[in-house]
Amino acid sequence: MRPVEIVLVDFDDTLVDTAPRFRAARRALFERLEALGFDGDRCRELHHGAVDLEMIGRYGLGPARLEHSFRETYGRLCAEMAIEPDETIAEMLAALGRSVAGTPPPLDGALDALRSLAAAHPTALYTQAGDPEYQLRCVREAGVLEILPEDRVHVCPRKTPDAFLEVLDRFGVTDPARAWMIGNSIRSDVNPALACGARAILVDVEEPWEFDLAEPVSDDFVRARSFADAVAYLLGR
Ligand SMILES: [Mg+2]
Repeated sequence: MRPVEIVLVDFDDTLVDTAPRFRAARRALFERLEALGFDGDRCRELHHGAVDLEMIGRYGLGPARLEHSFRETYGRLCAEMAIEPDETIAEMLAALGRSVAGTPPPLDGALDALRSLAAAHPTALYTQAGDPEYQLRCVREAGVLEILPEDRVHVCPRKTPDAFLEVLDRFGVTDPARAWMIGNSIRSDVNPALACGARAILVDVEEPWEFDLAEPVSDDFVRARSFADAVAYLLGR
């Protein structure tokens, strides 16, 4: 293995358990819409395939978009059925979306593994969010800043290949092939790293979010069952 210049570590669903709350809120959204008589498949298709993507475009990634996304999914379904939306129901669904905000709990063993990693290699947190202040608060409350100083935390609006090159530049990496990315998303973590000539470790999650489902640009990456396993691989254990 070449010497490591930097290891970039994702936050949501790599170090902390973000997805279950999003999933539970969406499940409740679909249950309520079905109870109102809307077709379940159509609710999911409209929400995942159109409305939520539009709201990510408008409000960015993160829970702040969900109240708009939930309300709008209901509004569009009503429009399709040519019925008048009920403001009480729309507000109840918006409140369901708002309930997702807050710092997610750390995943088992993740922070200990981060401490071992940071002791062995230059390490930085690399995360995407619609609201950087909200995200930094979650990072702090999760305990990450007790391990990495705040100047080793990089928050960007969206993890693209260009954003990946920017983060390498910020941390003075001269050879992308000596940089590693560890994260749970093929779309946001693995593909941008591979596209820039860096190395990547995918932390597998049981139920990936629809948005994260993407074809890897190549098979030249490592799979790990947890962040701790990814760190063990890098430390040669
Ligand atoms: Mg993630």
